[in-house]
Amino acid sequence: MNYKKIKLKPKKEESLRRFHPWVFSGAVQPKTDSIEEGEVVNVYTANDEFIAVGHFQIGSIEVRVLSFEEEAIDQSFWEKRLSAAFELRKSIGLVTSANNSYRLVHGEGDNLPGLIIDVYGETAVIQSHSVGMHEDRLAVCEALKVVLGDTLKNIYYKSETTLPFKANLGAENEYLYGGMDVNEIALENGLKFYPDWVKGQKTGFFVDQRDNRALLERYAKDRSVLNMFCYTGGFSFYAMRGQAKLVHSVDSSSKAVMLTNKNVEINFPDDKRHEAYAEDAFKFLGNIDKGAYDLIVLDPPAFAKHRGAIRNALQGYKRLNAVAFDKVASGGIVFTFSCSQVITKEAFRLAVFSAAAMSGRKVRILHQLSQPADHPINIYHPEGEYLKGLVLYVE
Ligand code: SAH
Repeated sequence: MNYKKIKLKPKKEESLRRFHPWVFSGAVQPKTDSIEEGEVVNVYTANDEFIAVGHFQIGSIEVRVLSFEEEAIDQSFWEKRLSAAFELRKSIGLVTSANNSYRLVHGEGDNLPGLIIDVYGETAVIQSHSVGMHEDRLAVCEALKVVLGDTLKNIYYKSETTLPFKANLGAENEYLYGGMDVNEIALENGLKFYPDWVKGQKTGFFVDQRDNRALLERYAKDRSVLNMFCYTGGFSFYAMRGQAKLVHSVDSSSKAVMLTNKNVEINFPDDKRHEAYAEDAFKFLGNIDKGAYDLIVLDPPAFAKHRGAIRNALQGYKRLNAVAFDKVASGGIVFTFSCSQVITKEAFRLAVFSAAAMSGRKVRILHQLSQPADHPINIYHPEGEYLKGLVLYVE
């Protein structure tokens, strides 16, 4: 295809030969064409060999690779990629009558850098993280309709806060297809929830904790469970189904607490085992009695959003986990997570180790958790691994 051309400096093609999907600005020769942000470009080696085609963007990552084959980025390309993503989810048993919520596209993990698509029953939520994906959103929308067919009634575009601010694209959150005022109930492992893509955080529900919630369900029986940073209450309603003795959910956002109550109520109407509190996590944990809970979940927001914040973030994880170790009952369980992409699992584990040592409790690792299969990690792009967790037994 006759796309504009980006030429690499000599010997800068190595990572692309290994299918790493980004071209950094330092690897590129001065441009002969004037290229618009978001345009599709062909990338060539210094010897004029084609090596990749992708979206151009101003910044340290100059090209996000869509394909390593010389091909057109047209409607059939989008359909082919979305269809491959859908087939993968179906083939691993993620799309069933009991589970109609899943991530259909996970950026680089589905060879579509800059694109996230979450599906909740009849609705798909598209989130662009690059200018190119924003420019191609209508093509993505058309491809989605073809791939998901009749089951799809709405497509909501939600990229106001995820696109590069400097590009000044004026993106608005809006329905690209369908549209409705009331959110339908969606299902995760047979449990009901109201996804709120319009007012909720991110695309409206965190599907990435699905497998970890299912694991918690197995541990909940006869335990009193504290779900910190509950957001829409995912861990809480799994604990309820797992026959927890009581479940307390805490989030600093009163909207989140309201959503948690609503989601617990549609699954377990009038069940007195559940209470939710709108309070700061550190304050809440500081005030509870030692031994009040047998199982504590800690799933805070990303403490580090960039490298510069790593040190403080690790301190934060240490402090939070130390309080949980201090307060959990003996023979208790702690599910602890970090969703900061820049914090490695080794660094997180070390922070939790320091917290355990600070509390003086004897702590053992029962499980090491990660993100589920609908958030695949491209092996050539380890940066795609972001969710990490530990399940700990505290004597
Ligand atoms: N565990 C949730 C996802 C948590 S997202 C799930 O399974 O869906 C992180 C949540 O932490 C957000 O809902 C946010 O409102 C909340 N939060 C952020 N800072 C907080 C604080 N200091 N105390 C309590 N909650 C906080």
